[in-house]
Amino acid sequence: SPSSWLGRLRKGLSRTGQTIGGLFVGVRVDEALFEELESALIVADTGVAATSMLLDALRTRVKQDKIEDAEAVRQALVQILGDHLRVLEKPFVVGQVTPLVVMIAGVNGAGKTTSIGKLAFTLQKQGAKVLLAAGDTFRAAARQQLVEWGDRNNVTVIAQDGGDSAAVAFDAVNAGRARGMDVVMVDTAGRLPTQLHLMDELKKIRRVIAKADPQAPHEVLLVVDGNTGQNVLSQIKAFDEAIGLTGLIVTKLDGTAKGGTLAAVAAASRGVRPIPVYWIGVGEGIEDLQPFVADEFARALVA
Ligand code: GDP
Repeated sequence: SPSSWLGRLRKGLSRTGQTIGGLFVGVRVDEALFEELESALIVADTGVAATSMLLDALRTRVKQDKIEDAEAVRQALVQILGDHLRVLEKPFVVGQVTPLVVMIAGVNGAGKTTSIGKLAFTLQKQGAKVLLAAGDTFRAAARQQLVEWGDRNNVTVIAQDGGDSAAVAFDAVNAGRARGMDVVMVDTAGRLPTQLHLMDELKKIRRVIAKADPQAPHEVLLVVDGNTGQNVLSQIKAFDEAIGLTGLIVTKLDGTAKGGTLAAVAAASRGVRPIPVYWIGVGEGIEDLQPFVADEFARALVA
């Protein structure tokens, strides 16, 4: 139910013991409050740029509206943070092109396989016919995990023992078209044997997908672990430069105190093409993938 995943999100984001919202309880609105808030945002991995942007906006609002009550300041912060995060909000649209080809990348351990399973489940529940390509041909366990998951959930998985990932992706796009699928999701490797380069491999998969369908991949998603903190920015940049990202899935937000990272991502998106957060992971279960809603996230972070 929505309340339970929101609760998990809220609990995860306030793991430091001291919640950000807690700063506003029973205190006066003075400089000390702003300073405490500044530290709390930095600790939550909001980053220097986003933190000062948010605090400037908040100070201005407090002055303009002559806010004297700390709870009213907290509410103003929720609103300002929600507005700030809105640049990352975008619905994930299925059905405009068929099959929609979705290439999914991410470093090992980020939650890629789990997220692909959850996403397939979610889209199938919405009535879409989904086909998966087990493109992580370097990790037998990942392939096996995806195949087993597909069996359990009646989702066809295109796999190949130790084959070439690009060939698996190519076959999957063709199979998707031939079988009238709505969505083809292509998993990719998160790490390669040392002599090979991940970004080169991903670029190759992208090129080969386009050989099967010149418009594809329509979506190129990066799965990132919400616990990564500020490093998430360099990860996004590196993958974007290599394969041109169209969206993010941010996982493990049910267990991180670094929820401010999304504010840093939003700050980095200013003046450049924003890469939206289509989905957030809030648990290990199949239903624990939720669309990213800026206001909801802001309320949870400043609870
Ligand atoms: P991959 O190596 O990127 O494919 O990562 P996996 O999908 O295998 O996930 C790594 C671990 O993270 C597994 O134990 C998952 O259950 C866990 N995981 C993935 N997403 C989430 C999430 O949103 N919340 C939590 N709590 N755990 C997650």
